[in-house]
Amino acid sequence: MYMEKLRLDGKLAVVTGGSRGIGLAIAEALAEAGARMILLDRDAEALEQGKAALAGKGYAALSYVVDVTDSSAVQRMADIIAAEHGAADILIANAGIGRPPIAAEDVEDADWLAVNDVNLNGVFWCDRAFGRHMLAKGAGAIVNIGSMSGLIVNRPQGQSHYNASKAAVHHLTHSLAAEWAGRGVRVNSVAPTYIETPLIGHAEASGLAAEWRRDTPMGRFGQAHEVASVVHFLVSDGASLMTGAVVPVDGGFTCW
Ligand code: NDP
Repeated sequence: MYMEKLRLDGKLAVVTGGSRGIGLAIAEALAEAGARMILLDRDAEALEQGKAALAGKGYAALSYVVDVTDSSAVQRMADIIAAEHGAADILIANAGIGRPPIAAEDVEDADWLAVNDVNLNGVFWCDRAFGRHMLAKGAGAIVNIGSMSGLIVNRPQGQSHYNASKAAVHHLTHSLAAEWAGRGVRVNSVAPTYIETPLIGHAEASGLAAEWRRDTPMGRFGQAHEVASVVHFLVSDGASLMTGAVVPVDGGFTCW
């Protein structure tokens, strides 16, 4: 009975930024649990590579190109998917970007706006667009990918834009969860530590990564599949009483 609650057979799941990294790992986890997968990303070629990677593991997926910062395009995408496949049961708002560390006083307007446009606005546009369809059918589960950087400010500093965007995602999660809890739609977040994907390549090059590993109680970074398995649980019926949670997936980093 308990393991059955983790199955997602027949559910339709959408993952933004799904062509690589954490998004692709989440897609694989949800597909393995039985979900029908749709990958969204802003680059068609990257999506083909993501689908090929899933196919290599034995899972099929559909894909659509959309830029999550374009609220109209996101709504159109949610409407098209609902018309062609039925309303999504699961949304993973995962697409995000980072910038190399820079002192807050030196942050350029363009970088502040770009980071917040993808990491915060993009999450809201997706939650709202797909959430509308979930609310209409009275069921759905959303996971927003936050970050431990939305919970703490890590050394060395210089991530004011990224930190602020992720903290906002966590509180957006609380807000949507409270508003939609009585209408069948659960909204949770995960707050991962450093995960070994291209997004943190600059930290490996600069030597920062070694310092961060030393700061982590478990002494290591995460792997994308270690985030994916938590996300899978959160969208499953195993987490039927959970909404509005921000779940650290961080090797203990935020304990210190
Ligand atoms: P990646 O850079 O590997 O993947 C992110 C994906 O999102 C890329 O395919 C990227 O496409 C896509 N994307 C970016 N902007 C947009 C957009 N405007 N519209 C559609 N798709 C877009 O990142 P990760 O897998 O590492 O990160 C995934 C999420 O996890 C992010 O929200 C990140 O902030 C969060 N996170 C990551 C951590 C880490 O250490 N890696 C730690 C904590 C949180 P493109 O190549 O075109 O940019």
